[in-house]
Amino acid sequence: MTPDELLARYHALETKTLPNGRHYTVKRGLRGYPLHPGVALILARADLRAETLLDASGSGGLVALVAEAEEKVVLEPSKTALRCASATFAAAPFSGDAKVTVAAGAPWDAGAGNFDLAVLAPPTDRGSARVQAELVGAKQALRQGGRALIVMHKDQGAKRYEKLAADLFGDLTVEARDGGWRLICATKTHADVAPQETTPFKAAGLTLRAEPGVFAAGKLDPGSSRLLDAVPLEAFGGAHLLDLGCGYGLLALKASLAGAEVTALDDDLLAVRSTHDNARRYGADVRVLHSDVDSELQDEHFDTILMNPPFHVGKQVVMDVPKAFLAAAHTRLREGGTLILVANRALPYERDLMSFTSWETLAQDAQFKVLRAVR
Ligand code: SAH
Repeated sequence: MTPDELLARYHALETKTLPNGRHYTVKRGLRGYPLHPGVALILARADLRAETLLDASGSGGLVALVAEAEEKVVLEPSKTALRCASATFAAAPFSGDAKVTVAAGAPWDAGAGNFDLAVLAPPTDRGSARVQAELVGAKQALRQGGRALIVMHKDQGAKRYEKLAADLFGDLTVEARDGGWRLICATKTHADVAPQETTPFKAAGLTLRAEPGVFAAGKLDPGSSRLLDAVPLEAFGGAHLLDLGCGYGLLALKASLAGAEVTALDDDLLAVRSTHDNARRYGADVRVLHSDVDSELQDEHFDTILMNPPFHVGKQVVMDVPKAFLAAAHTRLREGGTLILVANRALPYERDLMSFTSWETLAQDAQFKVLRAVR
């Protein structure tokens, strides 16, 4: 498969059908693709009847599609999931007169006291700060007496988070269990609590902030550190540069401060917000896009692309996204343009670099390698 074909396959929307005949859209890169087992438990076992529903489950709108509610709001921090949800509701011959809103957002963007049901499948792999923020946000979105349905896995801290949810909400019951997944119902009886502030941290000589759960929030990722050691970004002064999967924006900001004209993008809305804020605080002119790989780029090409590709979606090693990153680098570089990538040493990216004119290993140690490829 050529890089262009691989990228087209990555971006393809797939229509699936629920047992009750309703159609929905998924695509590669969606968390749990094709169907997250925690979401499957919600669909099978949860009581999804409510007047006003907040679907913050990250399921690409699937929970909202199945729920019986008069008003449904789907908030997706992942652009991939947002693309799925938008396609699902654009295509759905929708039952009843339910008013459905689909938008990019986190649970805490839903406003205060508007909902009587909120559904979460917190991304426990993004750490406890993110889970806590989602619980606090969902609680705030609920009216007093409203329910939160939350699904988590027992091997990913479910018991600990259930205790946290009980303390926050006031009342908690276990609704269903399946294959290690636990569905709980928390009823809001306690008053709202303030969300946690993000704390500044130092990374590669900069003072930065990151929203909860953003990749490497609060620290410098060792891979990104290797990339900065191996490549003096000053070399890219004046270059039209893309930071593909920017996280809180470290590489983008460094490149911008070194004089590059930078576009940064990430699937995670919280990464996008973090990069935007970090750039603003340094007065750096970085263009930041909420994008599923290159989905939001115009017909444009770059001189340089930097990446530290993700290879985990949850606990599984899923190579769809990093393969799409490499294919996009090939597609989005001008001829003669340069890709710089850092990766875990064990990952076989060299095969994907065969489509480039040349490539070399710039640096490697026991854990990481930094590769450079020329288009
Ligand atoms: N460049 C940053 C972060 C690297 S981690 C740093 O060096 O610190 C990889 C990033 O890719 C994560 O922020 C993750 O949210 C993002 N990502 C994952 N899937 C993506 C997709 N489909 N499209 C764009 N970005 C994605």
